[in-house]
Amino acid sequence: MRIAIIGGTGYVGLTTAVCLAAKDHMVFCVGRNEEKIEKIWVGFPVIYEESLEEMLKDVLARKKLIPTTDLRNAVQSSDVSFLCIGTPSKEDGSIDLTQIENATEDVGQALTGRSDYYVVAVKSTVVPGTTEEVVIPILEKSSGKKAGVDFGVCMNPEFLREGRALEDFLSPKELGIIVGELDNRSGDVLFEIYREFDAEILRTSIRVAEMIKYARNSYLAKDVSFANEIANICQKLGIDYLTVKKGMEMDARIGKGRFLDAGAGFGGSCFPKDVRALVMKAKSEGVETSMLEATLRVNEVQPYKIVELTRQVVGGFKGKRIGVLGLAFKPGTDDMREAASIKVINALLQEGAKIYAYDPKALDNARKIFEDKIVYAEKAEEALRDTDVCIIVTEWQEFADSKLYSHMRGKVIIDGRRVLNPSTLPPGFTYNAVGFPKTVKT
Ligand code: NAD
Repeated sequence: MRIAIIGGTGYVGLTTAVCLAAKDHMVFCVGRNEEKIEKIWVGFPVIYEESLEEMLKDVLARKKLIPTTDLRNAVQSSDVSFLCIGTPSKEDGSIDLTQIENATEDVGQALTGRSDYYVVAVKSTVVPGTTEEVVIPILEKSSGKKAGVDFGVCMNPEFLREGRALEDFLSPKELGIIVGELDNRSGDVLFEIYREFDAEILRTSIRVAEMIKYARNSYLAKDVSFANEIANICQKLGIDYLTVKKGMEMDARIGKGRFLDAGAGFGGSCFPKDVRALVMKAKSEGVETSMLEATLRVNEVQPYKIVELTRQVVGGFKGKRIGVLGLAFKPGTDDMREAASIKVINALLQEGAKIYAYDPKALDNARKIFEDKIVYAEKAEEALRDTDVCIIVTEWQEFADSKLYSHMRGKVIIDGRRVLNPSTLPPGFTYNAVGFPKTVKT
């Protein structure tokens, strides 16, 4: 099939474009930023995801992917468009649809010249009602055509996890595929694209598809906040949360919940903004959202628990050299949107600490956030050399290597993610972690 990916320079858009091209579709990867599109043309993915560069180069070489800023031509040359545009939060937490509205209008205008059937699929996360009440009216107005007659509409929420985005997209068995469809004819087009994927496909209405995405993200975010709250209680009571978690997971009704890790809280471009957007949508309909609001409240303060834990061990921060390991909101990505590291570092800076930060992939994005307020290290060892304290904020596996910490001056480690086993540290270290029973000296 010929497919246009609108928002092709973003995390979801570029992954979708490259993966569908790898499945031998002819894909137009549409972005607004010429510089980024030029980079994609030469095989340089503008985001980090494992194996993305190799796969991008492969589909470019096979002429399956056309990066472009020409949305009109991409829509006119394809059979279906996926809208993978950002849907950030407004200041009050509700969803900001400006980018979606603009892109939808451009797609509608590009459809004016077409006489054959076309399908527009919304892949962006949008609150229930958006596709029917915002996207379809804009498409009809700007194209002069009728949805369900001249063109089809689907809502196909994306569930990929940054850090394993390609794997999730290409092997979605664990996640399933949801196709919300205006009518059978629209859904058949997406079904055709997805039928060869090894995954259950649920075909449903557009509003249900929109809601499934929010229900899933809110459920998982709630698990994270629950785990953090229990870990905070454990810490106060001198109980090891890791063993509590293990015991919880022995109960088949709970199961091995990978979202029960305690730490610095959830960040990224999805959980925080999606839970906020659902709260605001529910409020606008007069529905109470105590649980979702509690999920956000716990998460709001969780990064500061690490700061407080550090304070308990080292006293104040004024003039202290602090090595921060991990800046991305999770391992496997360079994405720093709403990363816990931002709150942790800002709080430490405010109290006069000097920050030496390292992340294997997110340094460029970190520079845009902290500018010259912190020192950036190209290696973990560099960030730790002569520091008084190390705080681990993101659980990159390389931080589990106890040899890394040998150049520290102060030898205090606060592990925000339980990534390091303190029993592997040589003598002389002080270690504490979120949900850890007590400060230990090795
Ligand atoms: P992103 O900000 O990385 O990407 C959005 C891209 O759209 C940007 O590159 C932007 O330049 C581009 N864009 C905006 N308007 C455009 C236009 N008119 N024409 C062409 N390009 C345009 O965002 P993202 O993280 O990829 O998320 C996209 C959507 O997918 C959001 O709704 C998000 O909630 C949802 N989602 C994200 C993830 C994730 O892990 N990042 C997972 C599932 C769902």
